Amino acid sequence: MSTVNYVGQALKNLFSKPATLKYPFEKREFPEGTRGHVENDMDVCILCGLCQMKCPTGAITVDKKARTWAIRPFSCIQCRSCVDNCPKKSLSMDKQYQEPGSEKIEKVFDLSDKQKEMLDAQAKAAAEKAAAAKAAMEARKKAEAEAAAAGNAEKPEAAAGDAGKAE
Ligand code: SF4
Ligand code: SF4
Repeated sequence: MSTVNYVGQALKNLFSKPATLKYPFEKREFPEGTRGHVENDMDVCILCGLCQMKCPTGAITVDKKARTWAIRPFSCIQCRSCVDNCPKKSLSMDKQYQEPGSEKIEKVFDLSDKQKEMLDAQAKAAAEKAAAAKAAMEARKKAEAEAAAAGNAEKPEAAAGDAGKAE
């Protein structure tokens, strides 16, 4: 490098911003699309369990009985499979990485009250529908049995024939 170029570069460096940041006082903004934490909106999640099935590392646990969704952040490899497969789009990837730690923590989140009410209403409606279907089937079977009995009463010889065959 000639002296002129050297002086020019030195002056340029003197008046331009440094490439480094004064961490931890300054933190770098992660660019769009950075895969950091997985976050779940518990106002939208329906605890369907699909994210748990699709997670290749078993980092997610969906407990339908306890109505919780949990993630072990240090088991997550940021593959985004859970986010892409969530049918309700309740999962997203925050740009911030998980802070380092010495323990393999699990973060557990409760379903929101709104979602609990919605799931209760759905379960109630499904139970009522099943009960109505069962009652309709029983009524149809009873009507068929009564119709068959009435038919036999109108044809006593047929009934007698059937009885004879049985003997
Ligand atoms: S796939 Fe989505 S809606 Fe289903 S349990 Fe996971 S986060 Fe909730
Ligand atoms: S990003 Fe991948 S590894 Fe992490 S929780 Fe989702 S599916 Fe599992």
